[in-house]
Amino acid sequence: MSDPLSYLHDQLDQWRREGTYQRLRILQGESAAESLFDGKQVINLASNNYLGLTTHPKLREAAIAAVRKFGVGSGAVRTISGTMSIHMELEERIADFKHSEACVVFQSGFAANAGTVAAILTPEDHIVSDELNHASIIDGCRLSRAKIHVFPHKDVAAAEKILAELDAAPGRKLLITDGVFSMDGDIGALPGLAEAAEKHSAIMMVDDAHSSGVLGRNGRGTIDHFNLHGRVQVQVGTLSKAIGVLGGYVCGSRDLIEFLYHRARPFLFSTSHPPAVAAACLAAFDVLEQEPERIDALWDNTRYFKKGLTDAGFNTGISETPITPVIVGEAAAAHQLSRELFAEGVLATGIGFPTVPKGKARVRTIVTATHTKAELDRALEVFRKVGKKLGILG
Ligand code: PMP
Repeated sequence: MSDPLSYLHDQLDQWRREGTYQRLRILQGESAAESLFDGKQVINLASNNYLGLTTHPKLREAAIAAVRKFGVGSGAVRTISGTMSIHMELEERIADFKHSEACVVFQSGFAANAGTVAAILTPEDHIVSDELNHASIIDGCRLSRAKIHVFPHKDVAAAEKILAELDAAPGRKLLITDGVFSMDGDIGALPGLAEAAEKHSAIMMVDDAHSSGVLGRNGRGTIDHFNLHGRVQVQVGTLSKAIGVLGGYVCGSRDLIEFLYHRARPFLFSTSHPPAVAAACLAAFDVLEQEPERIDALWDNTRYFKKGLTDAGFNTGISETPITPVIVGEAAAAHQLSRELFAEGVLATGIGFPTVPKGKARVRTIVTATHTKAELDRALEVFRKVGKKLGILG
């Protein structure tokens, strides 16, 4: 019998021919400003470790202490017997930090988005969603089987027009946006969208994956950044990026959180975090409050590196945050740029269609609080050299 999966091999071959096949790079040590990947020491501009917390001593110690005290696993899903006191402590801590009534922690940001949207809506309902929202939101929308209406990126007038057209329609409406967009690094149009949601009685939901620990006071996110407290009913955040560990959370009313305890499928059907994860996350929230200078350093590095790239003549698009793309056009060109950068000692990932639109392929860079100016200068030097070699710079 021939291999019934041979079509996968054919697809992989096609990607190899097109130059878009991607081998996984192997990190041989810690995720840090400079790391060892595939046997080569490189400046790491490809992590979401915004504040350098993946290796923070307080997080390490908290995780180790939790392993000693509670073991390595929780033993069950949250609703059976896998809710440990440390899980509850983390949820209370996050709710407090975000000035929310309550919080539920999921195994990942992906699970938080997909699980929440799918749980709170039914096929009779409507979702009004930014075209560049994250895949986990899109999957959640599909799983909910609600009717999906996509508006052009950050176009508040278009979103409001859709909501107005839905005024007479039965069913609930959810208006949903990323707080910071992961591929372009621009900030969502939250104030205008919150106003539109209020005007048309829609639920407002924001995914703050890339804003948690980055924007707002002590990294409280975009709702705090825009002072929209009380006006966004569903706030999602991640524990996997600036927080440095793993997980996602939803903040909102006590009713929302209790409803998710009963109906969010990743919460109900997938085992809860190991205690070490919860302990390290708790320590991370202490660090956010005790070491605000990390966030200052992140923004200082962001401005420095972004200016270096634009001064050199690179197209960095519409970025307003540490996520800074270098847009080159075709996917194969982005992957080639990424490979050449790596050969010169800089890790920055090539990203093409379907993650970004055709013709807008890019290499995405993210600086962290822990990069030194010398490292950023070296990275900029490499970008200039490779950019000239590949004809991206004149
Ligand atoms: N939302 C956005 C905007 C993201 O970029 C990501 C991570 N790629 C997620 C959600 C998912 O977060 P996590 O990695 O914690 O699953």
